[in-house]
Amino acid sequence: MSEILLENTLTNRKEPFAPLHSGEVRMYTCGPTVYDYAHIGNYRTFVFQDILRRFLHSRGYRINQVMNLTDVDDRIIQNAADRGISIFDYTSKYIAAFKEDMNALSLEPPEHLVRATDHIEDMVKLIEQLEAKGLTYRSDGSIYYRISKFPKYGKLSKVDMSGIQAGARVDVDRYEKADARDFALWKAPKPGEFFWETRIGPGRPGWHIECSAMAMKYLGDTLDIHTGGIDLAFPHHENEIAQSEAATGHPFVRFWLHAEHLIIDGEKMSKSLGNFFTLRDLLQKGHKPSTIRYLLASVPYRRQLNFTGDSVKQAASSVERLRNFATRLKDGKFPSGSNPAMTARIQKAEADFESGLADDLNTAVALAAVFDLVRDVNTAIDRGEFRQQDSAPVLATIKKFDAIFAVVEDNDESRLRTLGFKHSRPEMSAQEIESLITDRQQARNHRDFKRADEIRKELENRGILLEDTRDGGVRWKKK
Ligand code: AMP
Ligand code: ZN
Repeated sequence: MSEILLENTLTNRKEPFAPLHSGEVRMYTCGPTVYDYAHIGNYRTFVFQDILRRFLHSRGYRINQVMNLTDVDDRIIQNAADRGISIFDYTSKYIAAFKEDMNALSLEPPEHLVRATDHIEDMVKLIEQLEAKGLTYRSDGSIYYRISKFPKYGKLSKVDMSGIQAGARVDVDRYEKADARDFALWKAPKPGEFFWETRIGPGRPGWHIECSAMAMKYLGDTLDIHTGGIDLAFPHHENEIAQSEAATGHPFVRFWLHAEHLIIDGEKMSKSLGNFFTLRDLLQKGHKPSTIRYLLASVPYRRQLNFTGDSVKQAASSVERLRNFATRLKDGKFPSGSNPAMTARIQKAEADFESGLADDLNTAVALAAVFDLVRDVNTAIDRGEFRQQDSAPVLATIKKFDAIFAVVEDNDESRLRTLGFKHSRPEMSAQEIESLITDRQQARNHRDFKRADEIRKELENRGILLEDTRDGGVRWKKK
């Protein structure tokens, strides 16, 4: 099997990956800020980390992943106050929605999906460690990290440190400008604002300290992998490094993996620009969860993903193609025996799939390997070169593929129902479809074309398209 290479933002190189602790990959993923529904740009990044964990698992590694839920920040405090409810009542709705979306998109639950507000004590301890080392200062009840005391600041994002002004500080968690500033570890409460009473004073944690504290609590001082969208590299991840490495004296993360953005009309999809779709917006329009997952997974994570109406349509038809193929193999009757050429063909597909993913998760190459196999097997079937005993091994390959991409097994209906979307009539089983096709053939044989047409229409209304083949047979596929 090919060696796993992952591109590390720290070094800007593809490096061979193996975990520090034999057999177990320890990874951390910056989770959503639960002030609203997540949009599909966010899910691009979460689908990428899901493909990553599934791939590493397929290589025999145990996965130990932490994802945080940022359930306290400026926006959450503001929105909860505007509605006159507690931050906990405010965020619980969006936490539940996030978990439902994850399930709809077949994102495996991380081993630890944890809320920031359940870890205030861990953050206070970490801030105390940094204070004891003289890396912090206080101002108006808030505590700041003095980045000039951490010489390696900027090593991840390569931010320009030449213009750094001692003492220039910033209170907001998120800022775009590339100039490095001292950032808040702990924020004093503004009048009327929610706060925790702690050993370091009243207040609430900054965003960055959350991730350092929660990552190290569950995964130890040094993690194998840390993932997030590229917008988090600076300042968020740079600040995580400064906090963690200064506190422990150990490297915080071995591999930093950042997903490029999902863009729409040439711009990053984001809440602040207002150019976003939530997952539910797209399902409401009639798209299937599997279509969205496929679309988000199909572009390698280090490339921008351009979201368009056409790309959604293409994703839907790709998923259908795979599902029709699997059904054709499951239900098809082929001449007995096996074709030795097929074994070699399957092996090639698996090797190409594997090496595509091993090359920094190149999902485009991996998918091409699968679609090439689908095309070649379909051709072999049409030429009568495919045998009954070839069917199970090809299906086994599709299953291996689906253990990572998770789109062929069709659970769209139940996922939609869980999210409260009413859906069309239940899908027809292959048996029901075949039996209607037989009725239609009989009607035709009796020259009852009206009835034959009715059956075709009925099937079409249930999402099944018929194709008359040249030899007088009929092939069907799902719309
Ligand atoms: P947030 O809830 O804003 O902290 O974002 C959650 C995750 O989504 C982070 O890893 C972000 O980097 C990522 N993200 C935000 N917008 C996009 C986008 N348009 N494309 C890809 N990832 C994004
Ligand atoms: Zn984070």
